[in-house]
Parts: sequence; structure tokens; C-alpha cells
Amino acid sequence: MHTYIMSLATRWNTLRHSPLPSPGWDGLRFRRTSGELRTMPIILGLALLIMLAVVFGPQWWIRRVLARHGDDRPDFPGTGSELARHLLDQAGLSQVKVERTDAGDHYDPLDHAVCLLPQHHDGRSVAAVAVAVHEVSHALQHARGERAFALRFALVNRLIWIDRIASGILLLAPVVFILVKAPLVLVLQVIAGLLLLTIRVVVHVATLPVELDASFAKALPVLQRGGYLAASDLPAARSVLRAAALTYVAAALATLLDVARWFRMLRF
Ligand SMILES: [Zn+2]
Repeated sequence: MHTYIMSLATRWNTLRHSPLPSPGWDGLRFRRTSGELRTMPIILGLALLIMLAVVFGPQWWIRRVLARHGDDRPDFPGTGSELARHLLDQAGLSQVKVERTDAGDHYDPLDHAVCLLPQHHDGRSVAAVAVAVHEVSHALQHARGERAFALRFALVNRLIWIDRIASGILLLAPVVFILVKAPLVLVLQVIAGLLLLTIRVVVHVATLPVELDASFAKALPVLQRGGYLAASDLPAARSVLRAAALTYVAAALATLLDVARWFRMLRF
């Protein structure tokens, strides 16, 4: 009997000191949840950083390349605009103007103008020379009626309408949803809007062959053969030409962020 009572007492004590009772579990669960809460902002912050790097990284890289090779070179015989004028005249394109712009270096096919930023128009640097020759190459593509250039021109013209239609659809989506009260209509509208914005990105990426042709099939051989740059400056010119060719891809990536912004705005 005594042994039986002793064994009951031992079992009772074991149960009493068992770690199973609920407060221990609650404590554990609370600690784990607060740990997750602490790591969430870190994960979100990292995701945001990666997204910003993907979207703005290329644009930052292009600006850095242009700045790195933008130092004044008094040993150069002329400015970017003077070289552009010289090359255009040599190609029989004296009707094409060379202008200063603040809207980024580009060739304007409607106005028949090579437009250069002030530092490239008036500067004597590797960046000024390479960018000027890149934009003159677009004037050559236009004058020769090259197919890829013509296709890009037509696409970019339509891009403006694609953009407006997409923005209209996405803006009207909540209004239509309130009027019709059918979630399916809203979903279809958002899908249509996003598809149209995706076309915009694809069009930008489709201009890449035109850009690569301008930089590496036209501008670089002109710089090499024409002796406009010393051999020691050619690697720097190559970097600038690569940056100039990728400007539109960088723009397309920034467009992706626009898509994300629209998507966020449409969440109720
Ligand atoms: Zn270009």
C-alpha cells in the first residue's frame, strides 16, 4: 500500500512539473510571432531594394559611364556638335540639323535633327564624341531608309496611343467596377491595361537592334577608321556607346515600375 501511494505521489509530481501546460506554449508562440514581425520589414526592405536596383540600376549605370568619360579633353580638335556636323556633311546629310537639348541625347526623325545635351554639344570629351557619333548613326539609318529604323519609328509613334489607351483603361477600371459591380469586369480591365503596358515594354526592347546597330555597326567603325579618337580612348568610347545603346532598355525597366504603381493603385 505504501509503495502504491509513493508511486502515485511520484506520478503526480512528474505531471505537475511537466513542461506541457499551456502558458509555456503560449509564451513560445508569442516569441515566435514577434520574431516573424521583426524579420518582415527586413524582407520587405530587401525586396524593395532589389526592385529599385533592377528598375533604376541600369539608368544609374548609364549616367555613371557618361560622367566617368565626360572629363574635358583639351587635346581633342573639336566638340561633339562639331564632329556631328562634320560627319553629317561627309555623309551628304547637310539638311540634318545639330541642336542643343535638355531632353536627353536623341535623333529627332520628324525634325531631322541630331539633339545633344549641352555637355555633349559643347564638350570635348570621349562621352561627347561617342554620343554625337551614335546620334549621327541614327540620322544615317533614317536617310538610308533602313527597315529596323522605320519599324522602330512606326512603333514609337503608336506607343503614344498604346500608352494613353492603357492609362485610360486602368484609370476607368474602378469607375466601371462601381457602376457595374462585377469583379470580372474589373479583372478583365486590369488585365487589358497591364497587357497594353507590357506591349510598351516589348516595343522598347524591340528597339535594341536599332541601338546596337547605331553604336557598334556604325559609330565604332567610324571612330576607329576615321581616326577621330586615339586607340587608347577607344575602350572608353566603347563603354559610352554601350550605355547609349542600352538607354531604351533602361527606360523600359522604369516603365515596369509604372506597371507596379498602377497595380498598387487599383487595390481596394
Ligand atoms: Zn540611340
